[in-house]
Amino acid sequence: MENIVSLCKRRGFIFQSSGIYGGINGCWDFGPLGVELKRNLKEDWWYNFVGQRDDIVGLDASIIMHPKVWEASGHLDEFHDMLVDCKECKKRFREDHLETDVCPDCGGEFTEPRTFNMMLKTRLGANDATAVETYLRPETCQAIFANFKEVYTSSRMQVPFGIAQVGKAFRNEINPRNFIFRSREFEQMEIEFFCKAEDEDKFFEDWKTHIWQWYLDIGLDEDKMRWYSHPQESLSHYSSRTEDVEYEFPFGWGELQGLANRGNFDLTQHTKFSGKDLSYFDPQTNERFMPSVIEPSAGADRTAMAILCNSYKEEEVGDKGDTRVVMKIHPRLAPIKAAVLPLVKKDGIAELAQDFERKLRKKFNTFYDQSGAIGRRYRRMDEAGTPLCICVDYDTKEDDTVTVRDRDSMEQVRMPMDDVAAYVQGKCSFERD
Ligand code: ATP
Repeated sequence: MENIVSLCKRRGFIFQSSGIYGGINGCWDFGPLGVELKRNLKEDWWYNFVGQRDDIVGLDASIIMHPKVWEASGHLDEFHDMLVDCKECKKRFREDHLETDVCPDCGGEFTEPRTFNMMLKTRLGANDATAVETYLRPETCQAIFANFKEVYTSSRMQVPFGIAQVGKAFRNEINPRNFIFRSREFEQMEIEFFCKAEDEDKFFEDWKTHIWQWYLDIGLDEDKMRWYSHPQESLSHYSSRTEDVEYEFPFGWGELQGLANRGNFDLTQHTKFSGKDLSYFDPQTNERFMPSVIEPSAGADRTAMAILCNSYKEEEVGDKGDTRVVMKIHPRLAPIKAAVLPLVKKDGIAELAQDFERKLRKKFNTFYDQSGAIGRRYRRMDEAGTPLCICVDYDTKEDDTVTVRDRDSMEQVRMPMDDVAAYVQGKCSFERD
């Protein structure tokens, strides 16, 4: 894990938030490479689950909502963890994360467990006397339920259909840890899929298949993934069935995505608390009913972390015992798609390479690098996870061809400059076969 964290900092994937002030626990910043990786991840998710489907539409709702939302959703009463304090070193722990009944840091005795609400409070309004106390959303889905009627009437969707949203969520985690795995500010990619009660099980199974396939499509190793089924007694207050996709991180198995059957809990609650009827009228059957909800809820940061862990490889190269660190990020998600490297700077080669890079940049993310030996430049791009490096040399001046080096096999092929853009796009496109 240390090697991955160190590469993330060194290459600009992920930094500690407010690092110059000593950092702030549970908050992280995505650097120049990290932001591209996470954008690609979210875009690929959207492409796959919204763009390519005619039964799912999108939403981008506000983070701060009416405080009643959190009463209706049950978060005010139910969204808590049990915490204990060490009487000696005063450190605070989540009770369900402890393996012993003494402090793992100093061996001290714990206080009695007590509840701790994980929502982050904020105040809305300039005047202290009238300001409203509300919360930063702890999950993105409540805005989907609150907008259910607006969405289906405006978009003329008919049940069964889904609403998708990608956005920030905030939880005052007692013990943020394991790099970005458990943060206090993170991004979720959620779908609420509305269906008839009798179709819940069928759609639950459908979603299991789609979710699993997406992780394979973005390059996660199948033997590092598994399903975990929550026992009945540990289900959240809104769920009758939950299964998680877990990934085997260097620190152990951890949840990437939850798939829950929320029944009609949320629409019923919001109908009760808002006084607005959120039931659905089916024009086919002339029936009115409260739809059930199947919810795939994924974390963008945890998925990014799984990609980083899954991609990190140390490999021996050549026969002199040299090693290279290479990030085998799926080309779809790679921050830089192609690097253009002039073999030498002189004799007009650098200018030729720069011109070529400017042309490619119009189509996808590129990077130009002319400093240092070509071997070292390849290694830097390996660490950045760049799938293809294009070398411009003396022959390019003669015949307009370049060498294209593949990150994973390190094989090089010669091709006309005019063919390069389509070649790179063919490898990096979101399109599935
Ligand atoms: P955990 O049991 O790990 O606390 P959870 O079951 O509470 O997670 P959900 O409420 O199901 O998580 O949230 C859906 C997804 O949001 C999770 O699968 C995860 O990817 C992401 N997520 C939840 N909490 C965090 C967090 N603190 N940091 C980063 N991602 C998170």
